[in-house]
Amino acid sequence: MKLAKKSTKTPTTLPSQLQPNKTSALILIHLQNDFFPGGTLAVTNSDQILPYVNHYIAFFQHHGAAIMATRDWHPPNHCSFQEQGGPWPSHCIQGSRGAQFHADLHLPTGSLIISGATNPPKEVHSGFDGTSLADYLEDREATTIYVVGLATEFWVKQTVLDGIKLGLRTVVLEDAIRGVNVQPNDSEHALQEMAEAGAIRATASNIGMQLPLE
Ligand code: ZN
Repeated sequence: MKLAKKSTKTPTTLPSQLQPNKTSALILIHLQNDFFPGGTLAVTNSDQILPYVNHYIAFFQHHGAAIMATRDWHPPNHCSFQEQGGPWPSHCIQGSRGAQFHADLHLPTGSLIISGATNPPKEVHSGFDGTSLADYLEDREATTIYVVGLATEFWVKQTVLDGIKLGLRTVVLEDAIRGVNVQPNDSEHALQEMAEAGAIRATASNIGMQLPLE
């Protein structure tokens, strides 16, 4: 049964139907220093997605879509930190260098920033949990979200699943995400879970973006 799910079928949705427009939002998940090589919670090879992310940003801006960026924004005593009994080394502490967006990220001025996991006793893994993201999307009359960023099996996955629950058409752009992969297949399993919940798995060419990148 498991094997049957492992098909690599291409999306049945045509690129023209997936091209972003004014009712779209590109959601950048956690492109912060601590999740890049050299950071306290570095995701392996996460810097490789930055050229894709920057091209997506330019492409989505060109098509009139909203650009929104989430950030992990922890108080120093957050419950997810090992000193507090949590699973992770401390990371993305509010105002720290590690919490800043990567210097090579071309985040347009005026992009909406969504700060998450700000409450010491509460760990969250979704851009929608405890934030105004859903309200921002409603204000922009955005009905389709495209999700990129870090890490695939945590914030990317949960943000995608919550977007679907809210009735948004939700696209995960596979060439601009990276997973932690504590187990080697965690990213792929997360992508399968997203697809089974109704997410559209896509890459740059599926949404009408030209490749290769320079
Ligand atoms: Zn965190």
